[in-house]
Formats: sequence, C-alpha cells, structure tokens
Amino acid sequence: CSGCITSAETVMLQQQSTDEFVQRLSSATQAVVVSLSPQSRASLATHYGITPLQAFRKLTGFLKSLGVRAVFDTSCSRDLSLLESCQEFVDRYRKAAGNSATKQGELPMLASACPGWVCYAEKTHGQHILPHISSTKSPQQVMGTLVKRHACYRLGLRPEDIYHVTIMPCYDKKLEAARDDFIFAVDPGGGTGDSGQAGPRVTEVDSVLTSGEILDLLESRGVDFAALEEAPLDLMLSSVDEAGHVYGVRGGAGGYLETNFRHAARVLFGQTVEGPLQMKTLRNADFKEVSLEVDGKRVLHFAAAYGFRNIQNLVRKIKQGKCEYQFVEIMACPAGCLNGGGQIKPRKGQTAKDLIQHLEAAYLHEVTVRDPADNPLVQELYRTWLGGPYSENARSLLHTQYHERERTVTASISNW
Ligand code: SF4
Repeated sequence: CSGCITSAETVMLQQQSTDEFVQRLSSATQAVVVSLSPQSRASLATHYGITPLQAFRKLTGFLKSLGVRAVFDTSCSRDLSLLESCQEFVDRYRKAAGNSATKQGELPMLASACPGWVCYAEKTHGQHILPHISSTKSPQQVMGTLVKRHACYRLGLRPEDIYHVTIMPCYDKKLEAARDDFIFAVDPGGGTGDSGQAGPRVTEVDSVLTSGEILDLLESRGVDFAALEEAPLDLMLSSVDEAGHVYGVRGGAGGYLETNFRHAARVLFGQTVEGPLQMKTLRNADFKEVSLEVDGKRVLHFAAAYGFRNIQNLVRKIKQGKCEYQFVEIMACPAGCLNGGGQIKPRKGQTAKDLIQHLEAAYLHEVTVRDPADNPLVQELYRTWLGGPYSENARSLLHTQYHERERTVTASISNW
C-alpha cells in the first residue's frame, strides 16, 4: 500500500522517528509515555535470545533511564478492541437477519486492525467495501484513546501534557497514527473532552517506532540489552498477573476471527466452541475458513485472508455479491503482524522462515487468557470509564470511520 494521506498528515508521519523521540525526552512541558505491542516484544526477545517478559522488563528499564514516564503494553487495548469488535459483529448480524435489504451493507464484517489493508481499501475500493469494514479502532488507536482520554488524568496530567509513542511491528502503523480521525479537541474545562468547547487539538498516538527502530536506538547507544537489569513493570494499563507475567488473547494475527467466532456462537446460537478452531485451509496457507453448524445447517461462516492476492480475491467476491462469509479477518502481511515490515530482520545466517518460527514460539510463550472479557483490567475499564462493551460511550471513544481517498500518492512507506 502506498500512502493515502493529506499533507498535514505527511508532516506528522515524517516526525515519527527515533531522533524526534529522543528530542521529546528533554521536553520540559510533556511527559513521554510508551506503549509496547506483543509482536515487538517477541521480536526483541527473539533477537536477544530472552523471553518476551524479560524483553519487556529490560526495555522498561532502558526507556525509563532515558526519561520515559511510563511504559505500558497494548494487550489490554487489544482485548478492548476485540470485545468491541465482537459486539459490533453481533449487532450487524442481527440487523442483517432482521432486514434483508441491508444485508449487503452489514455483512461480511471485515476486520479493521491492519492499516495497510484499510488504506488500500479506502484508496482502491471506496464505497463498495468501506461499509463492510468494522468501525472498531485497532489496538494501537484504542491504546491512544486510553492514554490520552483516561490514563493521563490518573497520572495527574492533561492529554496535551503527554507525548505518546507506540512500538509496533509495522510502518503502516505510523500512517494510521497520523490520520485526522485520531485527533480530538480537549475540553478546556478539564473533563475528558466532547463538551463542545474548543480546546487544544491532541493526537491519540504522537509517534510510532518500529521494533527495528528500537533496535537501532539500542545499538546506536551501545546498549548491551541482554545484560540490562529487569525493571518493574507499570501496572496501570498493563495486563500483568500477580506473578508478573504478561497475558492476553493469542491468535495468528490478533485473534479477531477466533474471538468473534466463539463470541457469536455463544451469544447468537447458545453454542460453546471447545478446543482449537477447526480451520480449513483453502487455496493457500494464508486463506482459511471455519464454520459452525446447528441442526445440520451452517449458521456461521468466517474466514482469515492474509496477503495481497487473497485480499484481492475476497474483495472481488464481495463486489460481485458472491461472498458467503459473515466475518473475515484481513491482514496485509502473509502470516500477519509477527511478520510485519517493521520487525527486526533475521540475524546473519538465519532464514526468514527460521525467524518466524522463533517469533511464533516467543509469542506463544506469554500467558493466555482465552476470553478477553476475563481480563480484569478490561472489566475495570468498562465499569469505571466506558460503561460496558459497545455502550454509547464505548462507541463514541473506541470506534472510527473510513473515507474514500484519492489515489494521489503523498507518502509511501509500504511494506507489502
Ligand atoms: Fe502492519 Fe502487516 Fe500487521 Fe497489517 S498485517 S498491521 S501491514 S504488520
């Protein structure tokens, strides 16, 4: 995907660098907060031959020694994003079942967590496809909302007092962070925004650094990362259990298919899906489907389509009205985000295949919670801040919209 953003957004894109990050650390007016993705944790862990938890603790220590105020992980924002997506799917399914006239507009629902895919859809397929894309924000942007519209107040800061950096496996996440849709006006009265008064305009995620850029930063400073001490983790927004382990929902590329499938089976058909999903591989390893039958009738039919060719085929079917799926997890990179273009490259003598196997093992090393609704941090955020999954407040804060874009190229940070 080549960029499809405005010139103002392009400026924001160019500012997202390690130099800018280091400069911000000496700012007297803003505190720097960092949010780390599980895929980047796995990338660092694999590169240095340590566990993801060790990588998280060591990176926390390193970043704090530079002056970072807090380091969170994005597992809880991913769980929020998954739960919102589940409720959104159930809502769309019921609407489609209740009114056949809207069926094509509501289903299939297409996952929205991959900005490479979203940008391509906006630029190439416009109104035929955009209504199908889930309105739920990606984990990165949910994290941005959490930090700038909730956690900042708990840190005793205002949204404009924070410079929020995420560490991600992907360059396209920089493009996502720079979208106008993720800038909001702060309520000058001191509330959490949306009072109608004009306050400073604040960006949810100010800068995205890739796993590879973090490695460059460590190497440019001559840091012996594996030998660093392990620092305590910040618990406010990190999914960490009492033993200090990070936990979250696993899944090939984010768990959207799996979590939505189990949730829809339970809520719509009263069925509990036990054990691993029985995925059927179709034309290649990056195109799979799964279905649920009740009384001999197929009631759910979901798919995962990764990589450009599979996405093109799927989009063609949707446009022709021939897509039988109700939900599709779409990711631009073959093998998903673990294989993102911003991940640390293979070591000398290591093949790409070897690396992805090590990354998968590291990723699976973390503690699993099967149902994101069981995450106590998520439960607390819904209770004290959002007012429940897919509530009016959650829909206003954790959902977004998409726009048809001109095919004019203003930036190109493609990795697929
Ligand atoms: Fe980025 Fe690739 Fe993941 Fe999409 S699938 S979010 S392009 S790493």
